[in-house]
Amino acid sequence: MGKVVIFSAPSGSGKSTIVNYLLSKGLGLEFSISATCRAPRGEEQNGREYFFFTPEEFKAKVENNEFLEWEEVYPGCCYGTLKSEVERIWAKGNIVVFDVDVVGGVNIKKIFGEQALSIFIEAPSIDILRKRLIGRGTDSMDKIEQRIAKAEYEMTFAPQFDTIVINDKVEDAYSDAERVIRDFISK
Ligand code: ADP
Ligand code: 5GP
Repeated sequence: MGKVVIFSAPSGSGKSTIVNYLLSKGLGLEFSISATCRAPRGEEQNGREYFFFTPEEFKAKVENNEFLEWEEVYPGCCYGTLKSEVERIWAKGNIVVFDVDVVGGVNIKKIFGEQALSIFIEAPSIDILRKRLIGRGTDSMDKIEQRIAKAEYEMTFAPQFDTIVINDKVEDAYSDAERVIRDFISK
């Protein structure tokens, strides 16, 4: 069994920004491409950010036991980690990186135990979170309010993670996350 690094956070906290930075650092990290039945956003491509499935295709994979975990993260909107992604990445000798919701993060940590490092990314405040989601410009105001409404609940999961990284100045968050990952890799 190889190692895995799990990132969870309320939407808009900067998880993708930090994960993309870390993936570019040559640490042997590789992104686990999740499955979802939401529509692609912005420049997203099938098989790069996500595998985009119809609700019927997603359900068939659930019934076929193809997911390590899956959650209905927003009403009517499911996301899941395919077992095949973990196998694909470990077969190359790389460390799996998960970008999952807080419930998925806690569940994956339980599955992999000491082989897993779980990192919770936190924005400095809800107001800043809202500004970042608006600034990202990829979601309707409805979707943004839905994500904000969920954020306070999601924050209560932070103590269940191995490490919390506060994403105030992005450079500080980059170096904090990189340091804990380097420690974990060297263990
Ligand atoms: P998530 O993946 O957690 O939903 P993103 O990485 O997409 O969040 O970040 C949300 C928005 O906030 C993006 O537009 C991103 O460029 C911006 N952002 C991320 N980190 C910071 C930061 N430290 N300061 C200001 N803006 C940030
Ligand atoms: P977004 O729509 O912003 O890409 O993602 C919404 C939420 O779904 C984020 O919190 C993201 O981390 C989470 N997510 C993405 N993939 C998975 C997955 O495979 N499993 C779980 N549980 N959550 C996921």
